[in-house]
Amino acid sequence: MRNEAHSDGVDEAMYPQVELHIAGKWRGAASGETMDIINPATGDAIGALPVATIADLDEALEAAGKGFATWRAIGAFDRYKIMRKAAELLRERAETIAAIMTTEQGKPLAEALMETRGAADTIDWFAEEARRAYGRIVPARASDVMQMVIKEPVGPVAAFTPWNFPINQAVRKVSGALAAGCSVVLKGPEDTPGSCAELIKAFNDAGVPDNVLNLVFGNPAQISEYLIPHPVIRKISFTGSTAIGKQLAALAGAHMKRVTMELGGHAPSIVFKDANLEKALKVLSANKYRNAGQVCVSPTRFLVHESVFDKFVDEFVTISKNLNVGDGHDPKTSMGPLAHSRRIDAMESFVADAEAKGAELRTGGKRIGNRGYFFEPTVFTNLPMDSRIMNEEPFGPIAAIQKFSDDEEAFAEANRLPYGLAAYAYTESGTTARALAERVESGMISINHHGIALPETPFGGVKDSGYGSEGGLEAIEAYLNTKFVTKSGL
Ligand code: NAD
Repeated sequence: MRNEAHSDGVDEAMYPQVELHIAGKWRGAASGETMDIINPATGDAIGALPVATIADLDEALEAAGKGFATWRAIGAFDRYKIMRKAAELLRERAETIAAIMTTEQGKPLAEALMETRGAADTIDWFAEEARRAYGRIVPARASDVMQMVIKEPVGPVAAFTPWNFPINQAVRKVSGALAAGCSVVLKGPEDTPGSCAELIKAFNDAGVPDNVLNLVFGNPAQISEYLIPHPVIRKISFTGSTAIGKQLAALAGAHMKRVTMELGGHAPSIVFKDANLEKALKVLSANKYRNAGQVCVSPTRFLVHESVFDKFVDEFVTISKNLNVGDGHDPKTSMGPLAHSRRIDAMESFVADAEAKGAELRTGGKRIGNRGYFFEPTVFTNLPMDSRIMNEEPFGPIAAIQKFSDDEEAFAEANRLPYGLAAYAYTESGTTARALAERVESGMISINHHGIALPETPFGGVKDSGYGSEGGLEAIEAYLNTKFVTKSGL
């Protein structure tokens, strides 16, 4: 259902002028070139984004080199204090920043607020981790020898973050890097740059020195091809599609750069016959349509036991039909538009392929109207295994629900794809829960609730979903080198 009260660019007037942030200054690109920023609820341009040139990147790299020397020399306790202040500023500004995010990205305001406040919690977590980047003493063989293992910041970081969570994707990388003592060149999301820029402002206003945190936008391929091989950059962190991640990891490998890759997923979401069906439906459907399904850990391949299949599908379809699709600024909206027109093209192509291959469309399947990028919450059942939706990350509001009769079938399907990011399951059996934890090939599995993506818990994938963690105590390690120091007689 589409909200009638579709607001025409509500809050567009307060959308800020977005700029690059290089060497402590907010400014346009050296060439003066810009690209349009679009409100996905209307399709209208709401701003002009500077497109960084190589000259801008060179300045950002020089700044990051200087900024690294400055920031690593600041003690962990002072870095902690500055970061905690940034978290407080983000909390104070959350409502304004969330409105900017909804205008540029489309998600409902409540989701944008949650993301902004959640980012403050992430900064707090990493600030505290800054004070716990412990080394160790290793007992020596000789009595006059002292053997130490120390942790050092890896160096200037090139970070690449996407548009689906304009703040959340950036805050993990920036906070991890800053906590460790690294400087950053962040290539933010061109589709949703305003809220990401507000995150950088909060860090700067909190006292992160000039040169430490640089923000650029532009042509993603040109920027990554220039930054990754550059000798100043010592670490790469990317969030985005598996296809691009593989290209960037190969480039980083050719230049021996450390890498964190947070890539795509196609989360198996298994509902066993003994599941609490009411809870499974409520939690899985809410998470399926959160951010219009543009979430790397979204539940996407629903595998439902035959004994509860019909009931699950009927109720899932009812929930899907009853969602209020509309402008994220409208308080009645439960699902906003897709973030850009490319996702509409992708959804239409998934639907056409599934229908051509004989899948059963239970609801949705079409774009809503022709203004803005709205798409119907869509449910398919009986999908042939070669349909694209069963093999490629949907990254949109399409649920693929399949039936299984034997639990082994569900385990086999869960592990069939090269992806391995998130997985979900509902069962009242402790034995099944244990088997899930041991046998599902994923970086994260959440059983009987949705408990993924907290700052204090690991976040990352296996197989084609990438490597490295962006949460938990593993996350700061990504920005630290381990050095062994041994000394005798001192
Ligand atoms: P895309 O693959 O063109 O871009 C995805 C992200 O990667 C964007 O942020 C983009 O700026 C960046 N990117 C693209 N090419 C790049 C390059 N050569 N160097 C550096 N960065 C580059 O596609 P899209 O239409 O923007 O998004 C669609 C797909 O991207 C989705 O299907 C999904 O798989 C993936 N995606 C994943 C996440 C995630 O959270 N893991 C987030 C956004 C998009």
